[in-house]
Amino acid sequence: MKEALLIIDMLNDFVLTGAPLEVPATRTILPTLKSRLEAARAKGVPVIYICDAHRPDDPEFSRMGWPPHAVKGTPGARVVAELAPLETDPVVEKSSYSGFHHTGLEGILQALGIDRLVLTGVVTNICILYIAYEAVIRGYQVIVPADSVAPLDPADGAFALRQMEQVLGVEVMR
Ligand code: ZN
Repeated sequence: MKEALLIIDMLNDFVLTGAPLEVPATRTILPTLKSRLEAARAKGVPVIYICDAHRPDDPEFSRMGWPPHAVKGTPGARVVAELAPLETDPVVEKSSYSGFHHTGLEGILQALGIDRLVLTGVVTNICILYIAYEAVIRGYQVIVPADSVAPLDPADGAFALRQMEQVLGVEVMR
């Protein structure tokens, strides 16, 4: 099996204090996630960033009621400094909760021969859960380290981890 580490939405607009879509738990997981990132780099495990990059009038802001965040090209849409991608790391931009819909993710995974995905980042019960589902139905083995994903609400996060484990067959590392 060939593994990749996926870092999902660890962007300034989700992580920084006072950010428009601040998820404070992202700062709790940051040190652990940073070590995980460094370990992956040391072992030559590919690191792929999946990042919100919204248009200013994205339906997520009106229809779904989120405050405007991660608008493409703004500082808020950048990966936080602590986890900054290398020049050579793929950065996949998305405009929905999906990592695969209208993105190049699948092509990147196929080109690298990846069949096992470690999902990290934010939000546990939104993008992590939906990307886990998308990956599972495409035949990828999925691992979610509980210490490296962040929920907005702890109960929602716990639900999502159970859902992934019991319904999707994801390996949740606790
Ligand atoms: Zn978004």
